[in-house]
Amino acid sequence: MSTQAVTVIGLGPMGRTMANVFLDHGYAVTVWNRTASRADELVARGATLATTAEEAVAANELVILSLTDYDAVYAVLEQAERSLAGKVVVNLSSDTPDRARQAAAWLAERGAQHLTGGVQVPPSGLGDPESSTFYSGPQDVFEAHRPALEVLTGTDYRGEDPGLAALYYQMLMDVFWTSMLSWLHALAMADANGISAAEFLPYAARTARSLPGFFEFYTPRIDAGEHPGDVDRLAMGVASVEHIVHTADDAGVDTAFPTAVLDVFQKGMAKGFDQDSFTSLYKVFRGTAG
Ligand code: NDP
Repeated sequence: MSTQAVTVIGLGPMGRTMANVFLDHGYAVTVWNRTASRADELVARGATLATTAEEAVAANELVILSLTDYDAVYAVLEQAERSLAGKVVVNLSSDTPDRARQAAAWLAERGAQHLTGGVQVPPSGLGDPESSTFYSGPQDVFEAHRPALEVLTGTDYRGEDPGLAALYYQMLMDVFWTSMLSWLHALAMADANGISAAEFLPYAARTARSLPGFFEFYTPRIDAGEHPGDVDRLAMGVASVEHIVHTADDAGVDTAFPTAVLDVFQKGMAKGFDQDSFTSLYKVFRGTAG
């Protein structure tokens, strides 16, 4: 089959948009989804709905999976085992690096190759070359299918280890979810004090925009294993986070989130890092604090 044909399995918001983007680019698209009705609009646009997962995998060399997690991946692929040999499975479902490595081995045992993908944008970012997806797995397989993958987003190949794309994705999700929750927590404090989300927006945005400068300042120090207290001290950070907890508590806002942050700071204090930078908490997270 030519590289202009692709199978997309999993038609949630992401998979449906991926299939649409491939159709926009003139690809012959075969789709399959557990709930078949989600394929209706795609079929109306010219996609072929396979009647089974096995038929969908058999239809093309390149098989894109966009499923909730790897439990769903196995639930689907176990129905398609007989057609897996010779296929390239590009797994854009989110899960852990270890599960990506296991899936690559599971597919290799069945004669298929696995590329792990971590898409860094929501459905609205698909089809935009400025968007990016992490990939890892065999480089020759990635290079062979790169033109098709670049129909979806720009690509960022991280290496041969199948876990790498999932690892980079989860590291970014770590930054994303904790940042978004801290914003929501601040909004709850704002609301409890009669301040709307819109009123707080410019200040939240300005703080978010300042973060790259902090990352860039502290990164060489962290890589060098140095945490000097020349511009900030952990003891100051503890007092600052305590003030957040008390401000939330006074406003009747749940304190679980800043209390969890305070807990990490206090672990650093217990390790004797009070005169060091808050970046010494990296050693607490890493388990190398002594
Ligand atoms: P959804 O969870 O909405 O849909 C995923 C698909 O998984 C659906 O087609 C669903 O089928 C299928 N599925 C779930 N469980 C099973 C199962 N046991 N057997 C068969 N099929 C199953 O996910 P999204 O489309 O939002 O996202 C897909 C992947 O992309 C996820 O891993 C997500 O983390 C990742 N991602 C999502 C982003 C987003 O903004 N949505 C952004 C970046 C990555 P059915 O229709 O029958 O329920």
